[in-house]
Amino acid sequence: MSRQYVTTAIDYANAVPHMGHVMEKIMADTIVRWFRLRGDSVLFQIGMDEHGIKIQETAERQQISPAALVEKMAPIYHNLYERLNISFDRFIRTTDTVMHWPTVIALWNRLRAAGALEKRTYTGYYCLGCERFMTKRDLIDGKCQIHNAAPKEVTEENWFFLLKREGDWLKNLLTKDAGGFRIVPPARAQEVMTLIEQGLEDVSFSRPKTSLSWGIPVPDDPNQVMYVWCDALTNYISGLGLLTDHADLSFWDDAEVTHVIGKDIARFHALIWPAMLKQAGVRTPDRLLMHGFVTNEGQKMSKTIGNVVDPEDVLKRFAGNPDPLRFFLSHEIPVGNDGDFSWKRLEELYDAQLRNKLGNLLNRVLVMLGKMDRRIVVSSDPTWIAGDTVWTQFADALDSFDQWKAIHVIFDWIEESNKFMNDRAPWKVASEEDKHVILSALAENLRHISLMLLPFIPDTAYRISKQLNVPYAQHMLSKDFVITENLKQWGGCPEWQSVGEAEILFAPLTR
Ligand SMILES: [Zn+2]
Repeated sequence: MSRQYVTTAIDYANAVPHMGHVMEKIMADTIVRWFRLRGDSVLFQIGMDEHGIKIQETAERQQISPAALVEKMAPIYHNLYERLNISFDRFIRTTDTVMHWPTVIALWNRLRAAGALEKRTYTGYYCLGCERFMTKRDLIDGKCQIHNAAPKEVTEENWFFLLKREGDWLKNLLTKDAGGFRIVPPARAQEVMTLIEQGLEDVSFSRPKTSLSWGIPVPDDPNQVMYVWCDALTNYISGLGLLTDHADLSFWDDAEVTHVIGKDIARFHALIWPAMLKQAGVRTPDRLLMHGFVTNEGQKMSKTIGNVVDPEDVLKRFAGNPDPLRFFLSHEIPVGNDGDFSWKRLEELYDAQLRNKLGNLLNRVLVMLGKMDRRIVVSSDPTWIAGDTVWTQFADALDSFDQWKAIHVIFDWIEESNKFMNDRAPWKVASEEDKHVILSALAENLRHISLMLLPFIPDTAYRISKQLNVPYAQHMLSKDFVITENLKQWGGCPEWQSVGEAEILFAPLTR
């Protein structure tokens, strides 16, 4: 059994969650659920990034303390992710002085002892929006590309992390065949390699308390506060207590470590983070799984344009059911690509794929079996379905983090099943026994389909299995449920004798 430690980026607590946050968590959750279903031992961590100047400013505008602001924001994220069925095991917060701070302080001290930190007087260009010093390459016509504003010239004393000298080591780490740090999908790796080839620069690691007060104090230097890197990136190991007396190495040294992040923060995760770990004598992670941005009807979502899609509105549209959104994002956006959110497309897919293709198939099969004696007679005839190859294609896709392909494998098979039903037309078959065999083959197909849907739309998968009345249905949503080799076999659940009542799987949308 292999061990898997999966993390997402921690969310910045200065505003409410948006579609990008949601896509990342759903993508990570799908992989995590697949790991558990194939029998791996998994730890899944998400959390909040709660320090920094923007938090300080947002709190001031709301006339509350930064501490009160983050206390208000954390439950908003936590609660949304629970309703989206994100199956996280741990929720870390960077203001947590018990869980988080001891590892951060220990990491800082190790970096300093290793000679990886240096205090300098520095003059640079600081973008308030980005909350960081910009390099010349970041600027076009002297302006930050993201905020379209000229950064402020600032002179101050900072601790610097010596990243410049790590270029060759990082290049080797990111291109190694075995034991390296892999960027998935590989197409996203080139951007990072280009940054290394252009030459790295040392990184500002602290700021004077006068510029940044809401953060973790630098050990033995009371006038300096840690800047985001050492504070936030360290969440990935502080949740495990690394570098403290309660270190749990079983989900670091003895696990495959996957960080799921957006493409905009790739360079911090692919360059600064592994270099920090190396200098601190901690092994580097295995994989960076990257996603792109979500646009709205082809346009960048922005508060100025006023086209930000609120995930809460999507949940409301489907009466709180998270599965249409989970399905939409996995079905529409290949891992690593940018994708588009469109209400029209979401509702079209809901009707065409979830209601008609999947929901109707289940309903027709159960209603017809319900008019007979509900008995299941799974034929051993191998010509009935494509079972083995479908499972192989599906598992290969998920093992290689191609969720898009995996969900298309399922829905292609659902389409095949619908064709099979129309071709065999059980309603025209005279013999009761022949009818049983055709409808049982379809029910068995649906049993497989519901197992495959578990990583993507877990609640729907459970409801299908419950209606089918398969004996393991009640256990399917628990974290220790495993899809065994037996369950993947055609007729692999011999205890299953009869189907249950048909219920509507997806209600029609009100217009
Ligand atoms: Zn900026």
